[in-house]
Amino acid sequence: PDESDLAFATEFGKKIMEKVQTADSMDTLYPVDVRAIKRPSQPFFPLFRFLRRVIKLRKSGTPLPRTPWVEDENLCTHCGLCVVRCPAGAITKGDELHTDEAKCIKCCACVKACVKKARVYDTPFAALLSDCFKKQKLPQTIL
Ligand code: SF4
Ligand code: SF4
Repeated sequence: PDESDLAFATEFGKKIMEKVQTADSMDTLYPVDVRAIKRPSQPFFPLFRFLRRVIKLRKSGTPLPRTPWVEDENLCTHCGLCVVRCPAGAITKGDELHTDEAKCIKCCACVKACVKKARVYDTPFAALLSDCFKKQKLPQTIL
């Protein structure tokens, strides 16, 4: 995310706060239909190129990590920051060296949170995604 994304997110957070604070009760908050968000248009060729390269990657037998992991166990101080930041509950306090594959949504919040740089997510998909989808899409929200 760049600065304008962060400003947009801050503004969105304020609007959510306003919506919640002005509601008579949580039961009377009007529902949000997420289907109302328009799908951003996706140019065909970058998508085609991406899919072709994914197939090639899978065929190559390159190991594809399913979650971030702790590369050097000695770096981990078991501070628990990754546990707190994980939105999916995929890391357990006291067992920070292990990540639950079934719960992890690969958001990398834990990697960003780890000040010791113990957690990494070095996947070939990162380069592939950034190479095929360079064009920035604007954030969309509904309230
Ligand atoms: S944030 Fe890093 S150092 Fe802290 S518990 Fe998690 S992996 Fe270990
Ligand atoms: S990548 Fe996201 S969901 Fe997966 S363990 Fe890290 S913070 Fe949790």
